[in-house]
Amino acid sequence: MNNLEKRIFDSQPDLFALDTAIESCEKSKDGWAVTLDKTIFFPRGGGQPCDKGSINGLEVKDTYEENGKIIHILPSPAEPGAAAHCEIDADTRRGHMAHHLAQHILSAHLTAMLGNDTKSAAVTCRLGHIELPLPLTAAEISLVEKAANKTVKYALPVKTYYLTPEEASKKAVRGKITPHEMIRLVEIEGFDINACGGTHCRNTADIGQIVITGYKEVRGLFRIYFKAGKAAQNELEGRTEALISAQSDLGCETTDELSQKAENARNTINELERQVSHLKKALFENDLERLRLSGEEAGDFLFSCFKAASSDPKHWKSVCKTYTESHKAVCFLALESENGVTVMALRSKGKEGPDMGAYIKRLAQALGGKGGGSQVDAQCLLPLCPESLEAFGQEACQIRKELNK
Ligand SMILES: [Zn+2]
Repeated sequence: MNNLEKRIFDSQPDLFALDTAIESCEKSKDGWAVTLDKTIFFPRGGGQPCDKGSINGLEVKDTYEENGKIIHILPSPAEPGAAAHCEIDADTRRGHMAHHLAQHILSAHLTAMLGNDTKSAAVTCRLGHIELPLPLTAAEISLVEKAANKTVKYALPVKTYYLTPEEASKKAVRGKITPHEMIRLVEIEGFDINACGGTHCRNTADIGQIVITGYKEVRGLFRIYFKAGKAAQNELEGRTEALISAQSDLGCETTDELSQKAENARNTINELERQVSHLKKALFENDLERLRLSGEEAGDFLFSCFKAASSDPKHWKSVCKTYTESHKAVCFLALESENGVTVMALRSKGKEGPDMGAYIKRLAQALGGKGGGSQVDAQCLLPLCPESLEAFGQEACQIRKELNK
C-alpha cells in the first residue's frame, strides 16, 4: 500500500470510524508517535486543523505529517501489528468539510466576479477566513455571499483526485499549484477546480448555508471571515437577536437607522482621533520647550531637572530622547501619578558624562522601587511619598555636582 492509499480521508471524508492495524510506535516528546496501516485522521496542515478522536479508546492528542508518514500522538504505547479501532469526532470533521468547501466556493466567486484572488485561507470547524489583496465594500461582500449560496443550492457534485503535475497543468486550475509529486485536485463540477489537500463535502448542497460574518485588515491584506453549515445557521439565528438588541441599545427603530447611527459614530471617532493626534503633537512641542527652558548650564551639559504630574512616562521618554539628541543635555525628571513616582534619567549619547543607570539603581535600592537602565537611559518607579521626592532632589544635586566637576 503506498502512502496515498493510506489516506482514507481523501476518498471517504465522511467515514468517521475505521478498523485497521497499528503499523509502528515510537516514543516522542509529546507522547507516543503511532502510524497506522491506513487512517481516517486528517493531519493538520494547509490551513485545516487535525481531527479530534481516539484509537482503541485512547485520545489522539495530535496528528501531523512527517516525511510522508501520518503520525498520531497517543498518551500511551501501542503494539505494532495489533488491531486499531479508530473513531473521529464527526461534528468537528463535518465542520471542517463544510468550511473548506465553502472557502473554495467563496474564493472562486471572488476571482470570477471581482478579480480578487485569494492569497491565503484557513478553516476551523466553526469559522473560516480568506485573505485578499484588494478590499471589498459591504455591497460586494453581500453580492459574493449571495452568489456562494446559489452555488450551494445548485447541489453541484464535488470530486477529488490525484494527478501528476503535468496532468494537472492541463486542467483549468484556479490559483497556484504548490509543486508536489502528485497534485490533489478538488473539482466542483462545472464550476471550479482548485489544488487542495483538505477534507470537503461531497456535494455543495451539503454545506447548507454560507454566511460572511465580518472583515478586517490584517498585515496589509483584506481578511473576510465566514461560517458554513451548522455554524452558519447558528450565526444567522444569533444575528437577529444581536441586531434587535443593538438597535434597542441605540434607540433605533429599523436596521437602516442603525446603519446610519453606526456611520455617524465612525465619523465622530475619526474626527476625535484627528483631534487627539493634533493635541498630542502640540503637547509634545510644549514639553520639549519646557525641557529647553529649564536647561541650566552644568559643565559641558545642559541640565534639565523638574517634577511634573504625568501618568505617561512613554511620552516624556520620547520628549527627552528628542531633546538629548539635539542638545548635549541631561534630563532628570520625577513624574508623579497615582501609580507612584517615575524617575527618568536620560543624557546625550557619548562616553563622557554621568552614569544614569547608576543614579537610578541607587535611588531604586534606597526606596524599595523597581527599575534600571543603561548609562544614557534609565528609569525607575518609586512609591508615592515625600521621601521619594526628597531622594530625587538629593540625586539631582549629585548629578549637578558631577557635571560641574
Ligand atoms: Zn480545500
